[in-house]
Amino acid sequence: MSQYIDGQRREALTGARDVVRDPSTGEVVDEITLAGPDDVEAAVAAARAAFPAWSGATPGERSAVLRSLAFLLEAEAEELAQTESRQAGKPIRLAREFDVPGTIDNTAFFAGAARTLEGQATAEYSADHTSSIRREPVGVVGSIAPWNYPLQMAAWKVLPAVAAGNTIVLKPSELTPLTTLRFAELATQAGIPDGVFNVLTGTGVDCGAHLLRHPQVDMVSFTGSTRVGRTVLEAAATTAKRVHLELGGKAPFVVFDDADLDAAIQGAVAASLINTGQDCTAATRAIVHRSLHDRFVEGVADLFASVRLGPTQDPATDLGPLISTAHRDRVAALVDRSRAYARVVTGGTVPGGGLAAGSYYAPTLIADAGLTSEVVRDEIFGPVLVVLPFDTDDEAITLANDTPYGLAASAWTRDVYRALRATREIRAGCVWVNDHIPIISEMPHGGMKESGFGKDMSTYSFEDYTVVKHVMFDLTGVAAKPWHRTVFTGPQGGGDR
Ligand code: NAD
Repeated sequence: MSQYIDGQRREALTGARDVVRDPSTGEVVDEITLAGPDDVEAAVAAARAAFPAWSGATPGERSAVLRSLAFLLEAEAEELAQTESRQAGKPIRLAREFDVPGTIDNTAFFAGAARTLEGQATAEYSADHTSSIRREPVGVVGSIAPWNYPLQMAAWKVLPAVAAGNTIVLKPSELTPLTTLRFAELATQAGIPDGVFNVLTGTGVDCGAHLLRHPQVDMVSFTGSTRVGRTVLEAAATTAKRVHLELGGKAPFVVFDDADLDAAIQGAVAASLINTGQDCTAATRAIVHRSLHDRFVEGVADLFASVRLGPTQDPATDLGPLISTAHRDRVAALVDRSRAYARVVTGGTVPGGGLAAGSYYAPTLIADAGLTSEVVRDEIFGPVLVVLPFDTDDEAITLANDTPYGLAASAWTRDVYRALRATREIRAGCVWVNDHIPIISEMPHGGMKESGFGKDMSTYSFEDYTVVKHVMFDLTGVAAKPWHRTVFTGPQGGGDR
């Protein structure tokens, strides 16, 4: 049963079937059905019908059910971590210590944040009127999420939308729908009314595209590749929907000559290999001062060699597989092409033996690549780090900004003025100083440039999921308002009555 519509698990009306596979073994984890246009109709109708009551619930009522949801998620944390690990090929340590606790914390955060929706104070900005602000939900949100952090991405889409009084139809990736479906069931158990949170499992073309164009959907929020993000914008234009886009990245990791080199090496390994590099904020371009370049390359290569690839269920495993063999082969082909113009320092291999059935790929470090080469410019979305040297601070900042993306970046330096310059001049939605990756529920996540627009997490996300309405009350109580004279002066020639 892989659709969740109006508070119930259902099969898709299409009858189309597929399987969810564990990328670490290729084994089938579950069977699913794939939604089509009729399922989209049913889910959007349920969300529409639920909207008046849910948008009319008090912030306190919305907060209470989200609080219960956080407790239910906590009680089921281990099962969720196991499912997440199996469907997405995540090392269980990452699922237990990052994906699931992050989702619980986000849910607890939005339970509180639901009560903080606010605007400017009511006031007399004109002497004859009182103005006030209403912050209202947008309506029915159609959301589409990727496979790399299935539960967290679902949470990031659903929580601010629902906390603000919207209802939602969410399509997770067809590769990883299982924890999202369970998240919706737990939401019902927590007291979220039927129809407020619906899940459609289906492909982008047969399900997602219909959701994006549905006339009863008021807003689309999308997390995924920049390529598909462009089609989301086009589809939204057909009925002028509000759009929220969290797209790809190619994060720079800038190491200045005064940096703590050991910290930078350690940080680069963790930040480039998190989730097997399938992280939109992962460090992908290490831009390193020439005086440190060779020692950095050597240090990262040594640590890459110590990273343990293994079964995802083993808590000692550091690095899991890529999401599919098709994706692994794409990453491998890109690295292979780079051998013609760059130096593959370490990695670039497909492990055999006990890992051969999964879509594993060795941690890969590439040096001496040209600035216009595809490994430097394109999002690889795998365990691949490219190192580029620089000589001056100006050059470092220019290189950091030299991609169409602008999602995340980091600067490694002990000089406060350099750090301040980097945080000011690097165009990215998040710039870390002497770290790279941590996120926190209270702070926004979102991009600039072709990494998209709109914020996930934090109360800033409410700017996307609410509409600000101006309400203006007349204070005079007279028929002929003073401002009417600018339009007509009346039978007495302009006197006030
Ligand atoms: P993707 O763009 O291929 O797919 C994302 C989602 O869109 C999936 O659910 C897919 O089924 C759906 N989809 C595909 N084609 C569609 C279409 N024509 N119409 C409607 N829906 C369609 O991305 P992916 O491979 O699942 O995820 C990886 C990408 O996501 C990377 O580019 C990564 O950077 C990005 N990402 C960004 C963030 C962020 O916060 N900015 C977070 C996670 C992932």
